[in-house]
Amino acid sequence: DETIVLSELAKRMGIKANEMIVKLMGMGVMATVNQTIDYDTAVLVAGEFDYEVEKASFEEEVILKKTGEDDPGKLVPRPPVVTIMGHVDHGKTSLLDVIRKTRVTEGEAGGITQHIGAYHVETEKGVIAFLDTPGHEAFSAMRSRGAKVTDIVVLVVAADDGVMPQTVEAINHSKASGVPIIVAVNKMDKPGADPDRVQRELSEHGLMSEAWGGDAIFVMVSAKEGSGIDELLEMILLQAEILELKANPDKLASGHVVEAKLDSGRGPVATVLVQEGTLRAGDSIVCGMHYGKIRVLQDDLSRTVESAGPSMPVEIVGLSGVPMAGDELVALADEKDARQVSQHRTQKQRSKELAKTNRLSLEGLFEKM
Ligand code: GDP
Ligand code: MG
Repeated sequence: DETIVLSELAKRMGIKANEMIVKLMGMGVMATVNQTIDYDTAVLVAGEFDYEVEKASFEEEVILKKTGEDDPGKLVPRPPVVTIMGHVDHGKTSLLDVIRKTRVTEGEAGGITQHIGAYHVETEKGVIAFLDTPGHEAFSAMRSRGAKVTDIVVLVVAADDGVMPQTVEAINHSKASGVPIIVAVNKMDKPGADPDRVQRELSEHGLMSEAWGGDAIFVMVSAKEGSGIDELLEMILLQAEILELKANPDKLASGHVVEAKLDSGRGPVATVLVQEGTLRAGDSIVCGMHYGKIRVLQDDLSRTVESAGPSMPVEIVGLSGVPMAGDELVALADEKDARQVSQHRTQKQRSKELAKTNRLSLEGLFEKM
């Protein structure tokens, strides 16, 4: 389904768009300047002007083609990616903060205030990547596109509040994507804490704790007091072991955007989770509709790093624009390819929007009639 915008084709042929429109009309094709025309029509109309259209067939899929099946010999264990979910104010961010705080050395503690939405935590028993709440949005966006970013969901439920609408939403999300859930019953320090109630309410949604004869893992924690955190990390790593997570670090990177923003000093900045391969400074990348060459890679403690392997979240600088949470990132061997894919996507998006406005204006016209 290759297409080209009429004005673009005319420009490349060095003729006026109007001339082309007239010619097309003569051929029985009604088109406007900004309309896309398909390959066959382009060949015909170009022929009318004694041009030949070379099928420099640009196939995004071909350019983006991954290395296919991974050589099993190159697959190595990778850290689990954990998304923290749960109702607002149940303590997702607090829990993540306390996990990070207990895991960094004093010298790094300053970097803790940095919120990039995705973090990397080293424990004695292994590394874990965490996605914070804004991950919710990315999580849904990615799930709707069939991409999987999370291996395990930690469902945070406040012991004094119990199951709330977003708790149920999170359970449904996780079930729909087949991701195992670990329940963290938070705020156990509070006088009103009622973990029995939480267990009862969750059992009504298919999450039966081991204590109640089910097989769901429940950990009682307090982000405020820092209790239960080690056990939670241990449970995550146990679950990860069962999943036998692997990836090939030895190829060009691919991953997904967790969050992105426009920074006044650095320009577009995106937090990405690398899932396959290794991302390096200097790599040419396509990210959603944008492209670029990675100028700087930074970890979650704002330290500049040379590269990021599977399950590693990093902030990247160097994109042509701000991507959306959930957008895929792919590194390409050739900078030209990156630009071409991005241009192709932008053009596709434009003609989609144009088709929409055309339809709207037509509808408006009929209403008036
Ligand atoms: P989020 O919306 O799920 O990210 O929740 P936050 O982490 O922002 O926490 C919401 C509120 O609950 C904040 O005022 C926290 O200080 C408080 N909070 C979080 N965890 C605990 C806890 O374990 N015990 C108590 N007492 N308060 C907590
Ligand atoms: Mg939060």
